[in-house]
Amino acid sequence: MSGPVLEVEALTKRFGPVTAVDALSFTVARGTTAALLGANGAGKTTTLAMILGLLLPSAGTVRIFGRDLAAHRYALLPRMNFSSPYTDLPHRLTVRENLTVYAKLYGLDGVRRRIERMAETLDLGTFLKRPTGKLSAGQRTRVALAKALLNDPELLLLDEPSASLDPDTADWVRGVIERYRAETGATILLASHNMAEVERLCDDVFVMSGGRIVESGTPEAMIERRGLSTLEEVFL
Ligand code: ATP
Repeated sequence: MSGPVLEVEALTKRFGPVTAVDALSFTVARGTTAALLGANGAGKTTTLAMILGLLLPSAGTVRIFGRDLAAHRYALLPRMNFSSPYTDLPHRLTVRENLTVYAKLYGLDGVRRRIERMAETLDLGTFLKRPTGKLSAGQRTRVALAKALLNDPELLLLDEPSASLDPDTADWVRGVIERYRAETGATILLASHNMAEVERLCDDVFVMSGGRIVESGTPEAMIERRGLSTLEEVFL
């Protein structure tokens, strides 16, 4: 299929009097990584939730792989996945049990082999047998990413992928995401507050405020427009 993997058009979400996402439109090309940037409350998480089909839009459309999400939800969802620091991992189950449950929910074959691969990719070996309720926040972030990669998603949505990680581990996780994209050609949309992360991983940036895109472009163009040396300085 040619054309963008993700097309968001006039997407709107109202919660009572609050318009969290306001006629938002953007596209993400195949095999690229794009970022939604913005302050707390800008509407990033609400946008991701609508793309995942977890929240119904008040108006507008989401097209994925050229198909309307509202009409083709069950065909599209197995080809996607997401990770968030708030991913709900049943606390009493061990990491291995959690991943097994998700693999079965996705109807995947070769569950044991997939989990071994994820354990290796995200270095989960030392805590695979531990209940997720006993993990540190950083370990949970890594398990959430393992869960997100289990079904080899062609479209990967990441909310704050390096939240709760120390700088070295955050950097290492960014390497995992980069390699995943390089090896699979996946398309990635992430929401982040971390400029170093966005500069390293992303081809395109959409800056959101009040549920709208107020600026977009490549990280390099945004830096150049302001005569800065890094994207980090843009949002100081
Ligand atoms: P953060 O970086 O803090 O996650 P965000 O950019 O992801 O922020 P959203 O969580 O999408 O922002 O929130 C956008 C707006 O919508 C905020 O004003 C928020 O208070 C509001 N909002 C989000 N979810 C709900 C809800 N379930 N009910 C009412 N208002 C909501």
